[in-house]
Amino acid sequence: MKKMIFAASAVGLFAVGSAFAQTAEIGTWAGFRKGAASFTFDDGAPSHVTDAGPMFKKYGYKATFNVVVNWNPNWSGFQGLADEGHEIASHSNSHGNNMSGEEASSKKTIEGKIKQKYGIITVAYPNCNVPNESAVLQNYIVGRICNGSWKGMADEMGKDGPSNWAQVPATMTGAEGQLKSTNDFTGRMQKVIQSNGWAAFLTHGFQGKQNGNANYSPTDINAIDGALKWAQQNDKDIWVAPMGHVAMYLKERKASKVEASGSGTITVKLTHNIADKVSKYDYPLSIRVKYDGSKAEVTQAGAKLESKIDGGYVYFDAVPNAGDIVISGGAAPASSSSIASSSSAVSSSSIVPPASSSSVVVPPSSSSSTIALPVEQANLATVAVYKTSDNYIEVSGAQGLAITVYNHMGQVVRTTRGLGLVQKVFTGAKGMYLVKVGSRTFKVSL
Ligand SMILES: [Zn+2]
Repeated sequence: MKKMIFAASAVGLFAVGSAFAQTAEIGTWAGFRKGAASFTFDDGAPSHVTDAGPMFKKYGYKATFNVVVNWNPNWSGFQGLADEGHEIASHSNSHGNNMSGEEASSKKTIEGKIKQKYGIITVAYPNCNVPNESAVLQNYIVGRICNGSWKGMADEMGKDGPSNWAQVPATMTGAEGQLKSTNDFTGRMQKVIQSNGWAAFLTHGFQGKQNGNANYSPTDINAIDGALKWAQQNDKDIWVAPMGHVAMYLKERKASKVEASGSGTITVKLTHNIADKVSKYDYPLSIRVKYDGSKAEVTQAGAKLESKIDGGYVYFDAVPNAGDIVISGGAAPASSSSIASSSSAVSSSSIVPPASSSSVVVPPSSSSSTIALPVEQANLATVAVYKTSDNYIEVSGAQGLAITVYNHMGQVVRTTRGLGLVQKVFTGAKGMYLVKVGSRTFKVSL
């Protein structure tokens, strides 16, 4: 079954009409996985921070936490979860019977409290009651109900998502819910792996934990732990990600066009034209392009992307509308051909301290070649800029931040953004460069 993963799950086949058109496809789900699952947690329970966060961290997965403004959630605790890549989302201001009138204001208040990459883009309705749908869709990309079956719909969605984005189903877990045991969760995940669909789960607090107001339908946390363990063992097939991230991916995938052309060097254009004030729809899509070579280097807007070659395709993740993607033969030295090599590149790099920051610790010249910088945004642990042995500028810890490279004349030579843990930027020539990452500036000599 696992060998079929790439054949069964790709959609979005486009080819341009030139002699050098190449086959390019967008994965149905991230990583060309077969199905998607989102874990959502309602009511801002203390145990979401103290118990759910560490549990998800153990497996490397991210969830969605829907907080109630007036219930005074542990904002710094939830910011900590956001910093780790979880989604913080709205569950209204007051948790009244119906949240109509609180669609925009709850979003705004949470946005003032929580800083996260994609903003506050999803909402879960208190008591499963759908409020003003147009107000929901003006402020969010997802409005979440509870069990689909409670409204005569299916509990799981197909690969095209819900018929109404203001009524996205999630199945209740715990004492009052349908899903109680690990097997209950894994059964739903197996189902969407079969159907190429998307399952969402709705959990409140946990049995025997500090749940605050989240006292409805407590779930055995070990059941979820087992579900995450199973997901990790089946990670090739199931994509576990926050509701808002899966929704962005799905909407982008359905709206995007991918075209590849050229021989030798292949240029890929990945674009969409989604008009929506809520999201920029800049979540990376998983792409594969037919490729004969045994090595490849993939860049987008001049920044190196992680890639792999498998079964006659080159695979990579790229952001739509973020510039041309170029696949070249990967003739560069071995030390530059994979992310794994970046540690050796680091050890041989020379680092110049930022020109415009006084708060950076500059190590003595004989010490380690990495500089840990103070936290610039809450979601940044460290940013470092250095040159690699093959004369790229490498930026680490800059996920989501704008990166601008200036030459010694002050002219912009590259603009990109941090897409992965490590971003390689090619300047095309040796020289002195200023690299602006977010609000910080670094000087690098190639
Ligand atoms: Zn609730």
